[in-house]
Amino acid sequence: MKKILFSNLIRPHLVGIAPYSSARDDFKGDAQVYLDANENPFDNGFNRYPDPHQKEIKNLLSGIKNISVDNIFLGNGSDEPIDLLMRAFCEPGLDNIIILPPTYGMYKVSARINNIQIKEVLLDENFDLDVPKIERAITPKTKLIFLCSPNNPTGNSLNRQKIKSLLNSFDGLVVVDEAYIDFADEPSLLALLSEYENLIILQTLSKAWGLASIRLGLCLANAEIINLLNKIKSPYNISGPNQKQAIKELSNIEGVEGKIEAIKKQREYLIGELMSLSIVENVFPSQANFLLVKTTNADSIYDYLTKQGIIVRNRSKEAGCHNCLRVTVGTEDENKIVIQKLKSYA
Ligand SMILES: *Cc1c(COP(=O)(O)O)cnc(C)c1O
Repeated sequence: MKKILFSNLIRPHLVGIAPYSSARDDFKGDAQVYLDANENPFDNGFNRYPDPHQKEIKNLLSGIKNISVDNIFLGNGSDEPIDLLMRAFCEPGLDNIIILPPTYGMYKVSARINNIQIKEVLLDENFDLDVPKIERAITPKTKLIFLCSPNNPTGNSLNRQKIKSLLNSFDGLVVVDEAYIDFADEPSLLALLSEYENLIILQTLSKAWGLASIRLGLCLANAEIINLLNKIKSPYNISGPNQKQAIKELSNIEGVEGKIEAIKKQREYLIGELMSLSIVENVFPSQANFLLVKTTNADSIYDYLTKQGIIVRNRSKEAGCHNCLRVTVGTEDENKIVIQKLKSYA
């Protein structure tokens, strides 16, 4: 069991901070008349404040993911926990985080907004962790290391043993962003939460669950971290309509599983078709719902596709991604169109 000294990690001014106490926090249960929150009394379906603790969603997620509700924080997209983790643990101008390019862009953006120093350690030639190199970059001021597995934009899962060895050697917090875990063969690291107090897992309803529009991100971690995030979040961070939609979708697991299978099948179709094109040099193995495709000329192909009304992501400026485009797996029809257009690129 890896323990952490929480008091060494939390920003000093947040120790013992009292959260905003919302009207509904003081009263638990069902009442006949609610005159405590200065709401408008005329019922239009939206006139009441939503549950600040999103209990119904957390109960559903607790069953689906087999973890306690005390280990679940819900944010307005994953963006919110990414930002809150930095605000909770990193002293601006003093502390630093480690990120591992090529990776998701939001860690860097959030760190910059919060004036937190960023240390970059490149992934190795297989887009996997170079643990000794990461360990050499750690300083006493390193609070968070952001890993992304399966990694965006490369699509591979990071080696589990390497993640574990980092969890063992690092006395700060390791954030593993599992936005794409539902498309992966390997299971989530969730089972390790009880072994490692310094493990924080991010998941989202934006990808496999098909709910990008409602902005619902999950942060799964030990209860002390979850408590702290709950104290510093804005009180009603998940809107009522969004909570409702999440509850509806989370109650239909079969629907989600069907969509995941369809996307995985289309992923295989796209790989086969892309590999047969002369302008494609490599399609990197993917555990996600997108493919990183190494082409003969990413900028030119990207411009061509854009003119044809097909938008992919040009990742050729990212470390280790020269001439690479990132293509999301779409519907069968969408994938056929992108292949057909690529065939007509000359
Ligand atoms: C898409 C994505 C997310 C999801 O972000 P939301 O704010 O939850 O929509 C998180 N992490 C990575 C690496 C992603 O690619």
